[in-house]
Amino acid sequence: MTQVQVHPVPAFEDNYLWVAEDGRHAAVVDPGDEAPVQAFLEARGLALSAILVTHHHGDHVGGVEWLAGRWRCPVYGPAGEKIDGLTHRLAEGDRITVPGLGPALSVLEVPGHTRGHIAYAGDGLVFCGDTLFACGCGRLFEGTPAQMVASLAKLAALPPATRVYCAHEYTMSNIRFALAVEPGNAALFERSERDAAARAAGRPTLPCTIADERATNPFLRWASPEVIASASRHAGRALATPVEVFTAVREWKNTFR
Ligand code: ZN
Ligand code: FE
Repeated sequence: MTQVQVHPVPAFEDNYLWVAEDGRHAAVVDPGDEAPVQAFLEARGLALSAILVTHHHGDHVGGVEWLAGRWRCPVYGPAGEKIDGLTHRLAEGDRITVPGLGPALSVLEVPGHTRGHIAYAGDGLVFCGDTLFACGCGRLFEGTPAQMVASLAKLAALPPATRVYCAHEYTMSNIRFALAVEPGNAALFERSERDAAARAAGRPTLPCTIADERATNPFLRWASPEVIASASRHAGRALATPVEVFTAVREWKNTFR
């Protein structure tokens, strides 16, 4: 069996449109723009067999209709969101098999950034859109902090070696914030050096792993005494529950410069 490879196709300021391929067939995740995806497919001689969408934002769906029309391929996406051109509406526990993507992927509902946001997990990887970022998480545009905590916990429970393909290269600014929250975290310093070197060499910091995130992501570390202490200090009151800690860290990040 041919090995599935996943490639970042950069778009806009800092999006990655992920293309998985087996040498013949390809699937694209969150094609916010058709042009760079089409150029990638042509350069490699690949046929697009499916489009996967995580949520309805324009930088994730802008190229869907053009690509679906050009390749006559199915478009998978969240049942709970209004997205033009979807052919398969997915909910928690659904499984999809797509040429070019290897073994079946399972759908996880991960609301918070948007109400209907989904992720695709399996085969040692997860495509998580704008829910979990490397050392960060998406803003809460439509969901509640409690929903986002449950969604992040669901992703954090994937096997530690799972490769995380999120949709934006926000890693270095996320790490800068994480260091303010948890300056005593040695793993975070190591990660900072490794990812800074990757960026300096022009490489993506992604994929990262669930293990990396559990060790360094302040939005998953609501049980870390240092995160609890600094979030409480920043909020000006004692915080106890994961949702309280998460909410304070998220609000802090929203105004962090
Ligand atoms: Zn988004
Ligand atoms: Fe986005």
